[in-house]
Amino acid sequence: MTETSSANTAQRTLVLVKPDGVRRNLSGEVLRRIEAKGYTLVAVELRTATRELLAGHYAEHEGKPFYEPLVEFMLSGPVLAAVVEGDRVIEGFRSLAGTTDPTTAAPGTIRGDFGRDWGLKVQQNLVHGSDSEESAAREIGLWFPHL
Ligand code: UDP
Repeated sequence: MTETSSANTAQRTLVLVKPDGVRRNLSGEVLRRIEAKGYTLVAVELRTATRELLAGHYAEHEGKPFYEPLVEFMLSGPVLAAVVEGDRVIEGFRSLAGTTDPTTAAPGTIRGDFGRDWGLKVQQNLVHGSDSEESAAREIGLWFPHL
């Protein structure tokens, strides 16, 4: 039998509610949407990032013009870090989150529903979700080394 798109593929992903989301009291709303979708919370922790942690987390963006402002923003307050488990959750959470720029993210997505379009930078897009199995394994290892 060939594999179909409904084949059960358990995955884990790293989700962050970024400092803007925590400041705007949207942590619970993000977790609610994750649970409503049927995903399982494996770990949830309010954390203050460090430069070292963010250097690892955003290594692929080092040197880009938005990198330093992004790191400063991520250090501007606590983030809610979570490991989320479920069937194809990596792609599934990114679909819950919506596209990177909240200004044009689809309604019904976290960024589309709560992103603001009055001049905030793209960096303030409320959430992060790993973009591949490799990124998920690397990011979970950085944020939750004991898992
Ligand atoms: N980002 C930014 N300016 C850009 C592109 C990205 O500030 O022009 C920030 C934004 O917070 C984004 C993060 O960098 O979420 C990582 O970028 P990526 O392209 O990986 O987007 P994501 O996977 O988070 O949608």
